[in-house]
Amino acid sequence: MEYPVDAARLEGDLRTLAGFSAPSTLGGVTRRAWSEEFFAAQAWLIERFEEAGLAVHVDAVNNIWGRWEEGSLPAVVAGSHIDSVPSGGAYDGCLGVLGALEAIRALRAAGHRPSRQLWVVAWMEEEGSNFGTALLGSRAFVGDLDLDDAAARRDLTGRTLAEAVAARGHDWSELADLPSGVDDIGSYLELHIEQGPILEAAGLPVGVVTDIVCFRAGTVTFTGVSNHAGTTPMEGRRDAAVGAARAIVAARDLAVRHGIRATTGRLSATPGGSNVIPGAAAFSLDTRHRDKPPLDAYLAELKDQFRIIADDEGLTWDYSESYDIDPVPLDPDLQKLFGSFCEASSIPYQPMVSGAGHDAMALAPRVPAGMLFVPSRAGVSHAPSEYTSPEHCALGADLLARAMARLSE
Ligand SMILES: [Zn+2]
Repeated sequence: MEYPVDAARLEGDLRTLAGFSAPSTLGGVTRRAWSEEFFAAQAWLIERFEEAGLAVHVDAVNNIWGRWEEGSLPAVVAGSHIDSVPSGGAYDGCLGVLGALEAIRALRAAGHRPSRQLWVVAWMEEEGSNFGTALLGSRAFVGDLDLDDAAARRDLTGRTLAEAVAARGHDWSELADLPSGVDDIGSYLELHIEQGPILEAAGLPVGVVTDIVCFRAGTVTFTGVSNHAGTTPMEGRRDAAVGAARAIVAARDLAVRHGIRATTGRLSATPGGSNVIPGAAAFSLDTRHRDKPPLDAYLAELKDQFRIIADDEGLTWDYSESYDIDPVPLDPDLQKLFGSFCEASSIPYQPMVSGAGHDAMALAPRVPAGMLFVPSRAGVSHAPSEYTSPEHCALGADLLARAMARLSE
């Protein structure tokens, strides 16, 4: 280690933060953004920032900033998010925030005098965990959020996002001013768990992220005719669930042929009676690849398959797209910087593509952005058994500290 990163302190912080969770019979961490336990976690984090000598700023969308206000702007910013999926893990996002905090503690302990300001940020609602708007805080910050559309979004309690913002003492109109803050940021660094099996399988402690995948996601609906399960002969049925089932298998098989990742995580049949032939069946479809043309080609061919299946089954079909996000390349100079630190310390690493979205996606088009991955045990994430060893967490924080030091020399 170059800087006195304290692996036990970082692990302790991760454990404490994991304790701010709604109860769940499935275990793990459930910390939806805007929930009571979420704001309790933010309050705890603000105390840790203050304890580390950082000036705290909470912006209008509830991103939390801890600023080491020595040196000039633009600042070097490191961070991630602290909201979680239901019954998620203790490391996703939290490592990027607490690792950045630990890096700053280590830099202070080593007597580093930054020429540029060093800030930590905890972005609001990265997971879309309450209002269903992924990367909410980071996209609002860079001005990449449709504010009228976002204001009216409702959570499960029926509360709008504008009301949630007002309940925290901010006026919705303040969100329009957030993007002016982008000019104060010179670099953005994000440490994250890999959330996949590649580093562990290769026996590598570090991945340097080159790109974040593009993805297209939407809902596919097949529509047929509802009828009685007992009196309707099998011949001539227009069973929407059978169409959806065939379509999901087709999406998987075609994805294998095209080298695409395709997933259906949500599935419903309507009206939903066990003794009723479903008149409609809908499923989510999440598709990802490093490059856009293969993904577009895959979806075009898949829609041909949907057409054939619908004809076969006497159904109609529809694909309604909710995301179409281009791949995001990360800053080549920051990739080189991370690589050079690893080489200098004989830390084996590999460049890699991120299959998951991260706040760095929102920042990268505006600010040089770099990301580091550390291994996830058994490649598991978004689950209670998500785990990254204290040594790997500390190594990530140390590399963040080195980058922050170099960029603020
Ligand atoms: Zn995350």
